[in-house]
Amino acid sequence: MEYISTRGSAPTLDFEGATLAGLASDGGLYLPREWPRFSEAEIRGMRGMPYPELAATIMRPFVAGSLTDDELDGLCHTVYGDFGHAAVAPLVQLNEQQWLLELFHGPTLAFKDVALQMLGRLFETFLERRDEQLKIVGATSGDTGSAAIRAVAGLDRVEIFMLHPKGKVSDVQRRQMTTVRAPNVHNLAIDGSFDDAQAHVKRMFRDSDVTGTLKLGAVNSINWARLMAQVVYYFYSALQLGGPDRKIAYSVPTGNFGDVFAGYVASRMGLPIERLIVATNVNDILHRAITDGDYSAGGVTPTITPSMDIQVSSNFERLLFDCGGRDGAALADQMHAFEASKAMRLTPAQAEGAASLFTSMRADQDDTTRALAWAHREAAQIIDPHTGVGLHGSLAAGEAGVVGKDVPIVTLATAHPAKFPDAVERAVGMRPALPQRCGDLFGREEHFTEIGGHYEASRDFVLQNATAA
Ligand SMILES: *Cc1c(COP(=O)(O)O)cnc(C)c1O
Repeated sequence: MEYISTRGSAPTLDFEGATLAGLASDGGLYLPREWPRFSEAEIRGMRGMPYPELAATIMRPFVAGSLTDDELDGLCHTVYGDFGHAAVAPLVQLNEQQWLLELFHGPTLAFKDVALQMLGRLFETFLERRDEQLKIVGATSGDTGSAAIRAVAGLDRVEIFMLHPKGKVSDVQRRQMTTVRAPNVHNLAIDGSFDDAQAHVKRMFRDSDVTGTLKLGAVNSINWARLMAQVVYYFYSALQLGGPDRKIAYSVPTGNFGDVFAGYVASRMGLPIERLIVATNVNDILHRAITDGDYSAGGVTPTITPSMDIQVSSNFERLLFDCGGRDGAALADQMHAFEASKAMRLTPAQAEGAASLFTSMRADQDDTTRALAWAHREAAQIIDPHTGVGLHGSLAAGEAGVVGKDVPIVTLATAHPAKFPDAVERAVGMRPALPQRCGDLFGREEHFTEIGGHYEASRDFVLQNATAA
């Protein structure tokens, strides 16, 4: 499969190249040249497949030319044979129409493990083949950092430097990063906000002192391989609920538009999806874009769903490209104008394309808390606040008739409630316990380096501590 950039001028790459590159050199994002399609009969034939086997079946066309069938099967079995639930992504029924898809059975209790565990293995496979090393430099507000560190800890050819804003990530999230002991893992606590940490990382990618000596890689959801791995659980859940002979709707708690874009990809591949509900918190740029074509960024408001406190959703560019006729040059102009003014209007084609599959729902803190209480009262389920934003969207869509009564609505449960115990306790009066498999997270020793707030301090730490490439 060939991969092209949404901005039209970066070189076309194969799957291996797109995975190692992350962002395209023209500032765009990589997408497959065309969508592989499965017929209804082919999808029916996937019923009953165990998760690792289904994962290999869905990913095969995307990795063609870069991984043999045996290599892909091996990776899928290694990665998905090691989750905390044998089904990897089990469905839980809430009432006749409402379902939860639990995506938090990986090592760091958030859905990001499903894709990052795979990405770590892909890096190692491709680097081994090229006899190269890769340095991952990332910034995190919590979930991405912990999942990325667990995905690469102990690998030979990848080293990771993760910057987090000191004192601004939850205790569970910080400990999931700082208690990992591996020579290739470096945690940096910086004085400043998440945006400051992110700015240091972006600057390192442009700093020739860094890029001249180290090959840098990215693990955020601009990396196509992450989205590819997320397409699998849409198929997995739909097959269990009667697909492809019945349409399913999904509600997806959204920040960077990665997870819900994977649902769009599943639909383009032939999976009958009735609706994708883009569930946002009060940082609602996507809600405004989908309801009236206004894509304009304001300031970020902190919420009880920090992993969705985002104003500019990187992956939305992929949707605009695909719905807007795949015109890279036109999209590059549109995105440059947006980067300058922080505002733009969707073109009629983009707005129409988005409206044909997506509906959006916005949840404020009361809506979210009510959704947590509803799940507890009506279905004896304790859910995390991000999942609560999604469930609010599902319930609202059911009530508003956006989705018919006979269509199952699946809320993606993106984090385990024990990751956000304070907000859960406030909503349902109970403090969720960490699952057994997390062991004594609070007993283990933490390792991190405190760095001041200056860019130079972060950069020098990376340059001095990176093992020779
Ligand atoms: C990252 C994250 C999200 C948002 O996912 P996107 O792919 O960025 O839209 C939602 N919930 C949780 C718990 C997350 O960690």
